[in-house]
Amino acid sequence: MTKLTERIHNLDQEIRRLEQLYSREEGSVQLLAVSKRHSSDKIRLAAGAGLQNFGENYLQEALEKIEMLSELSLQWHFIGPIQSNKTRGIAENFQWVHSVDREKIGKRLNEQRPDSLPPLNVCVQVNLSQETSKSGVDLAETAALCQSLETYPRLRLRGIMAIPEPLTEFSQQRACFQQLSELFHSLQADHPHMDTLSMGMSSDFEAAIAEGATMIRLGTAIFGPRD
Ligand SMILES: *Cc1c(COP(=O)(O)O)cnc(C)c1O
Repeated sequence: MTKLTERIHNLDQEIRRLEQLYSREEGSVQLLAVSKRHSSDKIRLAAGAGLQNFGENYLQEALEKIEMLSELSLQWHFIGPIQSNKTRGIAENFQWVHSVDREKIGKRLNEQRPDSLPPLNVCVQVNLSQETSKSGVDLAETAALCQSLETYPRLRLRGIMAIPEPLTEFSQQRACFQQLSELFHSLQADHPHMDTLSMGMSSDFEAAIAEGATMIRLGTAIFGPRD
């Protein structure tokens, strides 16, 4: 086994162990492999080890990989900040977008999603007040954005995503993810088909699983440090 294959195998086991530990249903936590700044060769290896979902932040870099790996039928998730002039490339080439944080972006993705493809799966990126990142809609405006995204036939609203500030204390990490989990459940009352809580990265995924994440986004833990 190569090192990468071994890491993926170990992570799979770790995720199943954490599901049990925190009384999560077996298989309820999906692994999204964040492959930004890693080569298509590494992605090919990871796909060979069973991974199917890959996350990318930069459109140009992603399009090259999507093209090179097209025969593998992978699921591509756009997880980076979205500028208006990037929406067409995203709408035409990705299966998922995790980082919709304003009405205008949703409107453009809906208009530009080709009819030949199924609706684009979208998550609203939420900015908790203590976040350092400027991306994401304010907590108070999340419900309104979700309502408006629901009106677009070429989009399928799947849930919410967040990137909390880096915290080292496990209990602080959990407190932060708990807020997101509460928000997710309150949104589900109006959007019962919402099924995706995208939270947790390499340094905090245990806390995210403990608080109900359904998709964790791991880069470093899978591929090692980025250049
Ligand atoms: C880079 C990135 C990740 C993965 O980060 P790691 O710490 O390498 O696991 C997850 N989510 C988003 C939105 C990212 O930009």
